[in-house]
Amino acid sequence: MATPKKDQVSPSLPPPQPAPMFFREILGQDRVLGHLRAAWKADRLAHAYLFLGAEGVGRASVARALAAALNCARPVDGWDACGDCPSCRRMAAGTHADFLVIGPTSEGRQPQIKIEQIREFRRLTAYPPMEGGWRVALIKPAEAMNPAAANALLKTLEEPPARHLLILAAGSDADLFPTIVSRCQKMAFTPLPSALVVQELQSRRGLSREDAVFLTALSGGSLGRALTLNPEEMAKQRRQVLEDLEKLARGSATAVLDWAKRLAKNNQELDFFILLAQMWYRDLLLLNSGAPSRLLAHQDCLPDLEKENKQGGPQTWFAGFAALAAAHRQLQANLNPQLTLDILGFRLQRQGLRYESR
Ligand SMILES: [Zn+2]
Repeated sequence: MATPKKDQVSPSLPPPQPAPMFFREILGQDRVLGHLRAAWKADRLAHAYLFLGAEGVGRASVARALAAALNCARPVDGWDACGDCPSCRRMAAGTHADFLVIGPTSEGRQPQIKIEQIREFRRLTAYPPMEGGWRVALIKPAEAMNPAAANALLKTLEEPPARHLLILAAGSDADLFPTIVSRCQKMAFTPLPSALVVQELQSRRGLSREDAVFLTALSGGSLGRALTLNPEEMAKQRRQVLEDLEKLARGSATAVLDWAKRLAKNNQELDFFILLAQMWYRDLLLLNSGAPSRLLAHQDCLPDLEKENKQGGPQTWFAGFAALAAAHRQLQANLNPQLTLDILGFRLQRQGLRYESR
């Protein structure tokens, strides 16, 4: 497998901007905003919402905008935060006493929101909001609540305190207790169109189009996630992934085991390996089927992809893609990473050997 040319990156990128806190800054969620606005105007906001959608499509931003607007002294357009009053300034600084974000306390493959966190929140709800407006709590990701935490929250949902708004953000309601889901009003957030994410990355971060396309593909179309990724760092990771794939294909069993051992120790590197390698095979399959190059994730590596397209075959790439997808599912299901990677490594090696013998 060819290693791509050294990637062109701009040396000094502006840092990612903080998440929006105004409705007027939210992209691509007009239906959700229209619904909330109508409910607000009619004074019929629900006491609990379930924001469903992928990571980074704006669920936390809408929660923050709602908290800012509900507490704003001089709302703009009758419903959006002004950004200038004392409450808005505290929201912007992240120090507002009545906007709470409840999330997992530990990192790892299965982070959890624990019952102590929900109990602490419930203790607060016995008192009115500290700043006299609304207390808004965002629980994200809601599926990280363990059963005890979910049960404790149920009590708050059954007897909602006045001037409190609870927002649960989850990928899918299938991962939550039905008793929780049935007590929340569901709002479906739609994925942002890729073209919009690319455009926003170019304008907000001054990225080249190729870098913006690369990060958009890497983030699965999530603007929030794409804004946190560094194109230079990701290009470096990609070089490592392509070197690893080549080494696996040509290497010995020891090479596979050493590779698995290295990756099993680093969750983030492992996640990026699977994603980047899958995207590489996907690009090869697209190119091989005659798709236009603008659909590729690794547009800046086009010469290398074209070269590899002439040498290899779709069966090999598809098998590699499938092996990566299987490993991804097993890791999500919390299988032993080292064992999963040993197997993945040998499967990728076998694909490489088949590829060599063509
Ligand atoms: Zn304000």
